[in-house]
Amino acid sequence: MDYINLGNTGHKVSKMCFGSITIGPLGADLPLQEAAAVVRFALEQGINFIDTAQYYGNYAALRQGLRGFNGQVVMASKSYAQTPSALIEAVEEARRELDRDVIEIFHLHEVREPKLLDEKMRLLSTLADLKNKGLIKTVGISTHSAKIAALAAKIEQVEVIHPMLNKAGVGIIDGSVEDMIAACRLAKANGKGIYGMKALGGGSLAGRAQEMLDWAFSREYVDSFALGMKSECEILNNIAWMEGRPSPCPEQVKHLQRTVVFDENPCYKACGACVSKCSQKAINLKEDNSLKWIKARCVYCGYCIAACPVFNISIV
Ligand code: SF4
Ligand code: SF4
Repeated sequence: MDYINLGNTGHKVSKMCFGSITIGPLGADLPLQEAAAVVRFALEQGINFIDTAQYYGNYAALRQGLRGFNGQVVMASKSYAQTPSALIEAVEEARRELDRDVIEIFHLHEVREPKLLDEKMRLLSTLADLKNKGLIKTVGISTHSAKIAALAAKIEQVEVIHPMLNKAGVGIIDGSVEDMIAACRLAKANGKGIYGMKALGGGSLAGRAQEMLDWAFSREYVDSFALGMKSECEILNNIAWMEGRPSPCPEQVKHLQRTVVFDENPCYKACGACVSKCSQKAINLKEDNSLKWIKARCVYCGYCIAACPVFNISIV
């Protein structure tokens, strides 16, 4: 495993980051012990960088996987908190539930629109205060938007950007893959740490995994990439692809290709929360309350699952 400085943050991280959304309720929803074992296996392979979020609901599995592990681990979490007090509580929750005195990186989660970034300057100041108090080490922003990434690249408080980025441009909003690359280059030149998300489009690009990861891990303006993994096989495959070796578990690849399903369709509640939550515009709610999933737009983030108040959505 190769390690790299994450911008000017002082964190030395593995080139591959463990994207943990896949082990929890927004992904495979593995039993606690199984999820913890996957985390531990990743650490034992040399991955020292873990990406999670308050929204992912997987802190218990990460805590269990990390228990007794002696190596240094860089933990990145994030929150959709809309107020300073909620953000402070989110950091407290992460420290408590992950059993860590300090969270190495804390992001504002999935900042979408430029006007939202204006509103979030107050929250960035809150994170900067928490950094001064020693409760977090580094302030970041995660985003699917090329415009937000370009703006964040120039904001002093933002030390790390976690952008949607893959060769095919899947999931990038408010711009093209070239726009996102330009934003990442600018951020890199300004000393920000950058670790990309969805190099395999959440699984939609798994059939081109070697090509996608060759591209991802040769980006000089990206320090690391978070890849979602939910089994030992996936971890070994990802490491092999990153190193340009043949996949040791080729049969696993087909399990990366998944489908969003609605248990009841038409939906009896039809609240539209899944539609609002999906930044990819991959769900339509029609007048007759039927839901249409648009596979070509989906990045399998699972955010619609958590948004649904009646547990009507799953990824299989
Ligand atoms: S439909 Fe939208 S919110 Fe749901 S998994 Fe796909 S991209 Fe994510
Ligand atoms: S969030 Fe759930 S209840 Fe609301 S429209 Fe979507 S599937 Fe139906």
